[in-house]
Amino acid sequence: MITSVLPTYNRAPLTFVKGEGTWLIEADGRRFLDLGAGIAVNALGHAHPALTQALAEQAGTLWHTSNLYHIPQQQALADKLVEATFADTVFFTNSGTEACELAVKMARKYWYDKGHPDKIDIITFSGSFHGRSSAGIAAAGSEKMTKGFGPLLPGFTHLTFGDHDAIAAAITETTAAIMVEPVQGEGGIIPMPDQCLKGLRDLCDEKDILLILDEVQCGVGRTGKLFAHEWAGIEPDIMMVAKGIGGGFPLGAVLATEDAAGGMTAGTHGSTYGGNPLGCAVGCAVLDIVADPAFLNDVNRKAGLLRQKLEGLVAAYPDVFELVRGAGLMLGIKCRVACGDVVAAGYGHEVITVPAADNTVRLLPPLTISDEEIADAVDRLDKAAMTIAA
Ligand SMILES: *Cc1c(COP(=O)(O)O)cnc(C)c1O
Repeated sequence: MITSVLPTYNRAPLTFVKGEGTWLIEADGRRFLDLGAGIAVNALGHAHPALTQALAEQAGTLWHTSNLYHIPQQQALADKLVEATFADTVFFTNSGTEACELAVKMARKYWYDKGHPDKIDIITFSGSFHGRSSAGIAAAGSEKMTKGFGPLLPGFTHLTFGDHDAIAAAITETTAAIMVEPVQGEGGIIPMPDQCLKGLRDLCDEKDILLILDEVQCGVGRTGKLFAHEWAGIEPDIMMVAKGIGGGFPLGAVLATEDAAGGMTAGTHGSTYGGNPLGCAVGCAVLDIVADPAFLNDVNRKAGLLRQKLEGLVAAYPDVFELVRGAGLMLGIKCRVACGDVVAAGYGHEVITVPAADNTVRLLPPLTISDEEIADAVDRLDKAAMTIAA
């Protein structure tokens, strides 16, 4: 008999009932160090006082009005994002996949309005992940997500991650945009080198196509800059954001330049919940903390500490681990044993990590993790590796 919850998830035998900072408390009372942060969502950990206060205050004031009216919290968050980034304008969603939907629509509408209705194709990359909507699965293109769900939304060209010459060769008159994650998350924490990201930006300029960055997982301070593309010194035309921006409250956004967003006039797009007062009040509180240069400096310092300790761990267990990669507090350990076994062994030592493709264990701790918690976490991973190596 089918379970009352649609059985689309393979769940670990864990039920968390409370969160405190970097810690999750299981129903049986055990305390877990959380290096998963709900897959890069709880950017400021669990029950952060500023976020709890922002949400509680808004909840006691006004939950929802509709985008038929002005929403001050939405205006405030849009202003903050425009102030802090390349963007001139922002549309709010509730998730990353909705941001993907709008990014695709925006790119197509851009060319339609410029008199090129045939420019509809978007180039994406192997190993990428852009969400579970019909556009999202067609964009990423992996059989794992698309099989049985056809016919797929047409207009996506899938190329190998990092092969610059192949990308240049694949651009045709019908190419509208390139969509890429600066650091692939689900794909196994694979950063696109700064040079490649610069190369993509140059290519888009040269061929006159749009660059769409998917920073749903790598954005909002995760790599030690507010957004990951800042490391490469480039700017996208359109950017998808979600996960960390809401700190655990469902919130996403599409950021764009005035030019790229030009086609999105009144009536061309909308959302019932997107940009609601609750989500935007929390988003403002998240951004006020994460966009502070001192906060980001500390993320970078702690990222160096965690990375150094993980390099030591990999060296200590060469039969279990192969290498560490990633950026900032978005780190992956590629394993020589099944990565799921490493994650499961971690549960035995009360430490949460997240599996990804390419046999990689993901570490995406709250950006607020302390030095002591980093040391404690790596000790737990060491004990977990010991049980596997034995
Ligand atoms: C998680 C993720 C998405 C989808 O976000 P949802 O909120 O799950 O819809 C899209 N792109 C990337 C890079 C992601 O990591």
